[in-house]
Amino acid sequence: MNQHNKQNPVNKTDSVGVLQCIVCNKALKEALTGRVDQPSGGLAFQSHGHYGSTAFDPMDGHYLELNICDDCLRRLSKQKLISVAAAPCYQPAPRELWTP
Ligand SMILES: [Zn+2]
Repeated sequence: MNQHNKQNPVNKTDSVGVLQCIVCNKALKEALTGRVDQPSGGLAFQSHGHYGSTAFDPMDGHYLELNICDDCLRRLSKQKLISVAAAPCYQPAPRELWTP
């Protein structure tokens, strides 16, 4: 167990890479077989945390990942709750569930 896991234990007994919308709980299927980081009908989002968060800011390369379905993205966009910006694409890495 690395330092991150001591501070922010993860539940390794559950499946890794939950394909479920964090907003409406809709189950999402894999867009590509065996790729839990690429939901069909939604997007995966990652955050490495940042200064200001009291929940997650490990500063060791770990990041959180969550999914939002396309229907929720459209609805939240109409509510002006989503911004867009240009940034480089992320590199996929092994993931595990986060339990604060
Ligand atoms: Zn949703």
